[in-house]
Amino acid sequence: MSWKWILMLMTCLLLSASVGAQEDENEMEEPSKEDGKFFPKLLSHIFDILSFRKVVAELKVGKTSPTMCFVCKFGIALLQHFVETDKPQEEIAHIAYTICSTLKLDSDRVCAGIINLFQDEMMYIFKRTTLGPQEVCGVLMGNECSRISSPLHNWTVPLTHFPKPPVQRVLEPLKGAPVIRVLHLSDTHLDPYYMEGANADCKELMCCRIADGPAPTPAQAAGRWGDYRNCDTPLRTLEHMLRHIISKHKIDYVLWTGDIPPHDVWNTTRDEQVHILHKVSNILAKHLPGIPVYPALGNHESARINSFPQPEVRGKFSIQWLHEEVTRAWGRWLPLDAQRTLREGMYYAVRINPGLRLISLNMNYCNTQNWWMLLNSTDPARELEWLVHQLQDAELRGEKVHIIGHIPPGHSDCLPVWSANYYRIINRFESTVRGQFFGHSHLDELEVFYGNDLRPTNIAYIGPSVTSYDGVNPSYRIYSVDGNYPKSTSVSTFR
Ligand SMILES: [Zn+2]
Ligand SMILES: [Zn+2]
Repeated sequence: MSWKWILMLMTCLLLSASVGAQEDENEMEEPSKEDGKFFPKLLSHIFDILSFRKVVAELKVGKTSPTMCFVCKFGIALLQHFVETDKPQEEIAHIAYTICSTLKLDSDRVCAGIINLFQDEMMYIFKRTTLGPQEVCGVLMGNECSRISSPLHNWTVPLTHFPKPPVQRVLEPLKGAPVIRVLHLSDTHLDPYYMEGANADCKELMCCRIADGPAPTPAQAAGRWGDYRNCDTPLRTLEHMLRHIISKHKIDYVLWTGDIPPHDVWNTTRDEQVHILHKVSNILAKHLPGIPVYPALGNHESARINSFPQPEVRGKFSIQWLHEEVTRAWGRWLPLDAQRTLREGMYYAVRINPGLRLISLNMNYCNTQNWWMLLNSTDPARELEWLVHQLQDAELRGEKVHIIGHIPPGHSDCLPVWSANYYRIINRFESTVRGQFFGHSHLDELEVFYGNDLRPTNIAYIGPSVTSYDGVNPSYRIYSVDGNYPKSTSVSTFR
């Protein structure tokens, strides 16, 4: 469940109130709060008014449409009204639960789990954001929804004073040039509780688990290697895939672009997330011995999905524990200077060979579902400033750069202001950035970047998922990279 669903809940509530008022005026059969059918009766009207199916379809594809803007603004207005009028948190939570349960957005235990997990953080953020509903929706959905005047969400990362060099054409590899073989794994989403034969049709966000019990019919049973329904990766499938890869391919290094835990997002705990982070990191190290793995952080890695406060947030919402754990889990593959920035902001750079630098970005600061960005989305952890510095340094040294991350920039789940800054940076350094690798969509895709003159300037490879969640086949990609990179030259002009 995402913020979009929560907005949907809130908007339904507001509309239900207005429908209720109209019914009263028309002296229709007056619904009684006591007869227990008040909400269901009112909510049933909302489907007609709001074209429920259309909204759900738009929610799923993350489309910015007038309907979605409407849902966003009303939902936020209502939430802010509750917060401003000091409505007790338990009451808001109860209303949200009633709507989630009545609309059957998921099972009662999933509704309760989500609301329980997210309510403290949402209330904390909405008490502190300086944005009104229009601007909140502008930040989350872009200018087509609403223009944003707040300077905290209208920012531009400065480029360096070095002018852009002439564009270097990408040439065919020389005959006999060395080839680097790169494995791309994404969205592993290992489920340690997957059980063959469990109920795969449990009608929840996630099924096929021991807790779902045996399937009532053979057609509903979870498969041996996985299932196309709402199910994640069994341990045997991940291990088999890795054994297969290592037996069939020579691999020089691995790009691992995030989303390690399963999709039981109503149920997550810090302990469980830490456990799965180390477990899967150890599995990769065991099955791919001696092969460097370069990971990037996904949006599922925190204790509440999508919750990635800025590094300066301290106290009970601080996420420093995750900074420490990813450094412990991934430090084995990274040099000390990369571990330092990993600990600080969960991003890093590493030199793969003398002419090729790899930069791993933490894309959760562009994540539209990361509510913390509503407080201040200005280049959190100064990540893009650091990226510009890295790219300028690489350009001056004559190195090429590959960038990895989880959520693809330009995706509807990436904040428009973050995407716009990133796009500008990529176009400035188009001759240095020779490849970008992302995940998150679970689909086998790519993204093309264009310059102002509509000339294609760069490409992002979006790797398909290891998990079959979303009805896809478990997948991996292998890239053949031209290994004939120019040797890096030392420079002392840029710091
Ligand atoms: Zn994923
Ligand atoms: Zn993801």
